[in-house]
Amino acid sequence: LAPERFAVDPNPPALLLQRRAQVLSPSLSISYAHKLKIVRGQGAYLYDHTGRAYIDGVNNICHVGHSHPHVVAALAKQAAQLNTNTRYLHETILDYTERLTRTFPEPLRVAFLVCSGSEANELALRIARTVTGRQHTITLDWAYHGNTNAAIDVSPYKFNRKGGRGKPAHVQIATLPDPYRGSFKGTSAATGVAYAQSVAEQIAVIRATTGQGPAAFIAEAISGCGGQVFFPDAYLSTSAALVRKAGGLVIVDEVQTGFGRIGEQFWAHGPQGVIPDIVTLGKPIGNGHPMAAVITTAEIARAFANGMEFFSSFGGNPVSCAVGMAVLDVIEQEGLQHHALTTGEYLKRGLLALADRHALIGDVRGQGLFVGVELVQDRETLTPATEAATRVVNHMREHGVLLSTDGPFDNVLKIKPPLAFGRLEADVMIDALDRALT
Ligand code: PLP
Repeated sequence: LAPERFAVDPNPPALLLQRRAQVLSPSLSISYAHKLKIVRGQGAYLYDHTGRAYIDGVNNICHVGHSHPHVVAALAKQAAQLNTNTRYLHETILDYTERLTRTFPEPLRVAFLVCSGSEANELALRIARTVTGRQHTITLDWAYHGNTNAAIDVSPYKFNRKGGRGKPAHVQIATLPDPYRGSFKGTSAATGVAYAQSVAEQIAVIRATTGQGPAAFIAEAISGCGGQVFFPDAYLSTSAALVRKAGGLVIVDEVQTGFGRIGEQFWAHGPQGVIPDIVTLGKPIGNGHPMAAVITTAEIARAFANGMEFFSSFGGNPVSCAVGMAVLDVIEQEGLQHHALTTGEYLKRGLLALADRHALIGDVRGQGLFVGVELVQDRETLTPATEAATRVVNHMREHGVLLSTDGPFDNVLKIKPPLAFGRLEADVMIDALDRALT
């Protein structure tokens, strides 16, 4: 952790840039956006081809840490013993689904295993449409739920930036009053109930066009791509109640948010007083291994099976399930949920102290290790400081800390590191942010 190890060559190798130009679509991944050639990961760190270390502030995929030895060992052991098309029933899938579903309250006890968050949301929407016999869904403005057909249909994050081109007619978008400038901290449950009115309005629109209610309402537990936006109290539960009353199912997307990351509860929808009909999982549950799930009730799963067949060649393969079990072991054995809570509090204290000195910081919000720092041009108007956010991210990279930006204005620094991230890494991150803002 010597400071010189954090110094980064600002000019990435020409060959790498050339290859990047050839092989990449305009949507760059974090690694490419950071112009880094990452060759190794360990714990909360990534290492580039020159051996330089970076604190990984954005990789909520490698949840318990890069190349965690227990996870790697479980993967190798299972790969040496059996990996197969999931047409064969195997012990690991039974053990794993039982253990995974036990992290949810009753009656969420059935798991469908797939390979990506997009697939999970795709299946969740298909379940809702099959069970209700309806097509229309309600999603939340600036949400992102994946890149496959049905998932991208409910992802305004992807078409808003293009002026709404690509929004399908069977999707209605609920809005929150200007949530993306400042957060809802301190708002009351009454505010949450009032804001859910937008969901009621979308239900009315669907009724007017189809004569029926929606098939589903889909929302993240905390809006990640929306800019780490935490909903006001009672917003999600009131929206869920309205949708259920109209005969639709409530899908909560926990692809980014839960799994011990927020600290107090295992899943981020827990504190919001809602038990969803369907929960979708992805990224962290496989610690970097392609692994995702749809969790629902036995009743809904049965109704779905009556109308549609489901099969996935790779979903729930033995290696993925062994990895999934190992990740759950590590969270438990290393007390990572509590660690996320206390480290998150420590990090937030440091960030709030920075906010006292840097007017660019308009808001610091978060729970556990799911934190957002919103950069603004001034605190009166909360005008987004988008360009500054990009410069801050670039500057921090040069000090060995990787962050990304998100939100409609790309002015929210997103902090969601592997849970191996500790106080030392928090200190280095705060110091790097201090320098970048200065
Ligand atoms: N849902 C949310 C909230 C996400 O953030 C993402 C990915 O960023 C997805 C779904 C899609 O997951 P995947 O990229 O694994 O298909």
